[in-house]
Amino acid sequence: MTQEQASVITIFGGSGDLARRKLYPALFQLYRHGILRDHFAVIGTARRPWSNEYYRDIIATSLEGEAGAVSDAVHAFASHFYYQSHDVTDADHYVTLRKLSSELDDRYQVGGNRLFYMAMAPRFFGIIASHIRSEHLLSANGYNRLVIEKPFGRDFASAKELNDSINAAFDEDQIYRIDHYLGKEMVQSLMAVRFANPMFKAVWNHDYIDNVQITLAEAVGVEERAGYYETAGALRDMVQNHIMQLIAYVAMPEPESLTPNAVHQAKRSILESLKPLTPEDAAENFVRGQYVGDTPDQPDYVQEEGVAADSKTETFVAGRIELTDSAWTGVPFYVRTGKHMTRKSTQITVNFKPTKQNIFAPVGCNELAANSLTIFVEPEEGYRLVINGKQLGQDFHIGQFPLNFRHDANAIANAPEAYEHLLQDALAGNQTNFTRWHELKATWQYVDKIRQAWDASDVMPTYKSGSMGPDAAAALLAKYGDHWSWDGSAND
Ligand code: NAD
Repeated sequence: MTQEQASVITIFGGSGDLARRKLYPALFQLYRHGILRDHFAVIGTARRPWSNEYYRDIIATSLEGEAGAVSDAVHAFASHFYYQSHDVTDADHYVTLRKLSSELDDRYQVGGNRLFYMAMAPRFFGIIASHIRSEHLLSANGYNRLVIEKPFGRDFASAKELNDSINAAFDEDQIYRIDHYLGKEMVQSLMAVRFANPMFKAVWNHDYIDNVQITLAEAVGVEERAGYYETAGALRDMVQNHIMQLIAYVAMPEPESLTPNAVHQAKRSILESLKPLTPEDAAENFVRGQYVGDTPDQPDYVQEEGVAADSKTETFVAGRIELTDSAWTGVPFYVRTGKHMTRKSTQITVNFKPTKQNIFAPVGCNELAANSLTIFVEPEEGYRLVINGKQLGQDFHIGQFPLNFRHDANAIANAPEAYEHLLQDALAGNQTNFTRWHELKATWQYVDKIRQAWDASDVMPTYKSGSMGPDAAAALLAKYGDHWSWDGSAND
């Protein structure tokens, strides 16, 4: 029997895009599966003067197309939602919110649990946290948890300032910082692949691994997010958070257990072993790029609405990252991410070293190919392991054979979405799939060095929309005798 989680959930930014597209559908799925049942209420806040009825219509609309969203279920679910017009900068408004929270706590017999979700622009995070404390919204007889959306700062200094302001009101074990990649099925599967398979555990180090490649390719451009993207760029938007978290999961030592502390300790040891970059290293090992239209109907990045004509914001990053952890000496982690790339795909390839002993040379196999393991994170979800074997035939010729598995579309559609996993974890008090301050500190300090090197230079290579990035991204690997394992074509 699924354990019901009782809570009064307050969503700051309840009329926003994230709440409508991600949070309400995820909460509905939790309701459908009995994790939210009778003892919960959701307070949506934003500045607009909405009624509860209007808000519940918004909730119902946001669930259109969701599995199980038949009208009775939607109606029953939406009846737990309450709207409170609220300016987060106005301390008085928190008093109304406190009264409503405790009234709903009584009505739904929640037992004092409070989950505060900040689905708003990051500049408000600090002030909301401090008002929650100063205006006594924290409950004395249940838990108090704060869920924070990304971006968490735009460099180390601003992340620290934000962290300090949140820490003034909440303890670290009450803070749930979202990196939604950690809610993805295939990211969570990385631990299973690594630690449930002796065949991988035995070879997961620099003796056997030649390089690791991580690609987060998007087919779309900036679309309606240009205003935000202009101030962020691919480095801040994707590398500091998602790519660094993937590196941590690929490289971390086996944690002692699955407890949040053990997993975070293992991840921390890797992120704190990012090899510090000198300005020269940063300039040498990181490439940026900006897309330009490949056909007349495709705009260049600088022609997008909301983008400055002389913008120096990168829409693509490729880099070579090294770790000082002794398990990974000499193993480069090649990473890249960009908009308007050939096709959407997040994938991780571990390229092993070829076998040192080749007994097949006398029968003409001078070069033996290396094994590789690819983990497809999205939109395809699955694995490909490439092994060597004998080709059928009279002669002894060795060929490469991919062992492929993909979850089918139906299974993917029925699996929980990232926000569903993360909201369930936050309600259950499991911090494993949220980021801790030490991880953010290490990754921002690393990324700041790249930013500084780029800010000191005018070089901004371009790449054609629909390609795999600027030529410099291929040249970066070629310099080290490597190449990108995935060329952007459909995965076999
Ligand atoms: P949004 O602009 O759509 O929504 C912002 C919300 O804040 C609205 O409900 C607005 O009414 C409210 N608001 C603004 N000023 C206010 C004030 N002074 N007092 C009270 N309410 C106020 O933003 P969004 O896209 O929903 O993003 C919210 C957060 O989630 C951001 O931190 C964003 O970076 C993050 N995020 C969003 C997405 C996404 O897909 N939308 C994805 C990842 C992360």
